[in-house]
Amino acid sequence: MSDAVLEAMIKQLMSQNVPQVSIGWQGGEPTLMGLPFYRKAVDLMERYGHGQSVSNGLQTNGVLVDNEWAKFFRDYHFLIGLSLDGPEHIHDHYRKNRGGHGSWSKALDASKLLLDHGVEVNVLSVVNNYSVQFPDEIYEFHKSQGLNFMQFIPCVETEGNSVANFSVDATSYGEFLKRLFDLWLTDFVNGVPTTSIRWFEAHLFKYAGFAPTECTLLETCGEYLLIEHTGDVFACDFFVEPEWKPEQPARNAIANVAQLAQANELRTTEIQPAR
Ligand code: SF4
Repeated sequence: MSDAVLEAMIKQLMSQNVPQVSIGWQGGEPTLMGLPFYRKAVDLMERYGHGQSVSNGLQTNGVLVDNEWAKFFRDYHFLIGLSLDGPEHIHDHYRKNRGGHGSWSKALDASKLLLDHGVEVNVLSVVNNYSVQFPDEIYEFHKSQGLNFMQFIPCVETEGNSVANFSVDATSYGEFLKRLFDLWLTDFVNGVPTTSIRWFEAHLFKYAGFAPTECTLLETCGEYLLIEHTGDVFACDFFVEPEWKPEQPARNAIANVAQLAQANELRTTEIQPAR
């Protein structure tokens, strides 16, 4: 993302008439942009803000995270999503670099560094055809590392016209979630959870009549926007395709797309392809 796009994006975001602005930085690997990029981003938030609260989240594999990053995340209250799939044999089963070496130790070092600096960390674990066998091991490992805020996402990918063999199948994932739920419940103390599993909490919120934290549990889409590194704005990360690109005058693309989203004109079934 160029400096010009960064500034236009922050300026437009901060000009929205909302009390809170939430930004989630994702890649690829967003730390590859370097710390100066994020320092500039928070400077721009301060410059263009007018009293709103701003929350920043960043999803990382942890490989580049060092003391400087950790201090920055702490100072600006970034919520860090750390990709860590559990113990070494599970994480490194698929997460290998070009040299064939696993990234587990770097991700674990990052988690310790972040927690030591007082950064809020939400561990994000991908559940694939291998890791799905180990709900107890993954849950207990995260707990043992002080990573009590957990999020799990099923790996479902295609290869050609069929499902990739590393994907998790529905039945196995269901069994995984059932076991995880029991583990989560066992750790309640006086009726209060001592660990956080985002998917279960989202259901709890919905059951209690509050807005769930997962868009898939909402009645309509359009609760958030995705901004590409080019500055193009889309309704959702699953629709970043030219044919799903809403019309967006470059000078105020965010407001334009946000208005459409709020008017529910960007529901996934109703997006008008660009002409
Ligand atoms: S299409 Fe996008 S916004 Fe809608 S539920 Fe799926 S992920 Fe969420």
